[in-house]
Amino acid sequence: ELANRMAERVSDVVKALMNMGMMVTQNQPIDADTAEVIVEEFGHKIVRVSDADVEDVIHSVEDKDEDLVPRPPIITIMGHVDHGKTSLLDAIRNAKVVAGEAGGITQHIGAYQVTTDSGAVLSFLDTPGHAAFTSMRSRGAQVTDIVVLVVAADDAVMPQTVEAIAHAKAAGVPMIVAINKCDKPSADANKVRTDLLQHEVIVEQMSGEVQDVEVSAITGQGLDELLEAIALQAEILELKANPDRAASGAVIEAQLDVGRGPVATVLVQNGTLRQGDIFVVGEQWGKVRALINDQGERVNEAGPSVPVEVLGLNGTPEAGDVLNVVETEAQAREIAEYRESAAKEKRAAAGAATTLEQLMAKAKEDENLQEMPILVKADVQGSAEAIVQAMEKIGNDEVRVRVLHAGVGAITETDVGLAEASGAPIMGFNVRANAPARNAANQKGVEIRYYSVIYDLVDDVKAAASGLLSAEI
Ligand code: GDP
Repeated sequence: ELANRMAERVSDVVKALMNMGMMVTQNQPIDADTAEVIVEEFGHKIVRVSDADVEDVIHSVEDKDEDLVPRPPIITIMGHVDHGKTSLLDAIRNAKVVAGEAGGITQHIGAYQVTTDSGAVLSFLDTPGHAAFTSMRSRGAQVTDIVVLVVAADDAVMPQTVEAIAHAKAAGVPMIVAINKCDKPSADANKVRTDLLQHEVIVEQMSGEVQDVEVSAITGQGLDELLEAIALQAEILELKANPDRAASGAVIEAQLDVGRGPVATVLVQNGTLRQGDIFVVGEQWGKVRALINDQGERVNEAGPSVPVEVLGLNGTPEAGDVLNVVETEAQAREIAEYRESAAKEKRAAAGAATTLEQLMAKAKEDENLQEMPILVKADVQGSAEAIVQAMEKIGNDEVRVRVLHAGVGAITETDVGLAEASGAPIMGFNVRANAPARNAANQKGVEIRYYSVIYDLVDDVKAAASGLLSAEI
């Protein structure tokens, strides 16, 4: 590829690489820095891919109005802990997925689609809570069209209810209130409605414009009404997309599967994703080997608002990463490499201390240390997001915690490398370091801390951060 672009003979390029001590074959990828040296050696001009080039490749087509067709709404369920978000998601799924359909077994892939009795299709994000919602947004992936705010009728408005309202409003996403647990004798739906008034959420029953539906995730009461309310709200929003273009979408979950390799659940936002498509997603790229829907069935394509598992990635992306189909593998690889090196540079910009204690000591010497970098590895995406969310709240104007990376899975040598480069400790939540990572950490003096309770992790970081604070006074 490189020889081609320089209009040089492949054998000459391979020879030049061998002269540099790199024993490569002609189809072997080389890193950007090496490529740069080679290009210079051959007397050519180097053009590194820039943000603008990436944008050009990705956003080359504008949709015309006549190409746009209605698409299903994407719904996130938010609300206070224990108010029934998970129960509601399960109840909707169970009520609407017809047993005995081909494939039949619903798969938890991070999102699912249901069809209402009146025929509207709705896509639900399967990760309730505002942590995922916010971190997706902060990564540039706004995937939610409608927020269903769950409020338990036996508990009314609670702190996380208020937070959820704030998040929905900040994102400019309309809300529908599901007053849950209405089967309970102690349920008081009107208290929920009046409580909400104080937070400027005026429901229809209070002559406002926010739809409210009384439901029970346990008995199934009101579920159909809730779904119709969502469908109605979606109609008002006139959501549209162009299925006849190269796909773009957002990663809502991703993991490294032992048997299948890296797997990402992608919610298609525009266009149609097809088997064989070449794509770039965050710092990764790939070619769609298979698409699997929320019923566990293989499908050939996925259109707007459809969630699918994508196989054929060369690495594991992160939730919130945006996927774009591109034309050639060379483009995909180039953009992924460019993003990776840009991200590396950013990470390397952090300090040099590697343990919480050293960070505190460093703060005493360095009055300007304002950021405390940490690296988080957790067992599941949900906990990683929750930890990031909690970390963002720690600190004040003088010091704040910066999560360099929050990933899912065992702590690896790569993590240790990143931690060392950035002077950050690694916080493992319900995960361990593998043997090579432990060795590397010992050698490089990178601290790895293990936790199984989020609060403990948060407390330790808080303590370290306040150490930084007091050190400055
Ligand atoms: P989440 O934390 O918001 O996801 O809440 P969960 O879905 O885990 O529910 C918390 C508890 O409330 C569980 O014990 C549920 O069984 C119970 N629950 C959820 N919805 C209802 C409901 O409609 N009626 C009753 N009686 N209990 C419910």
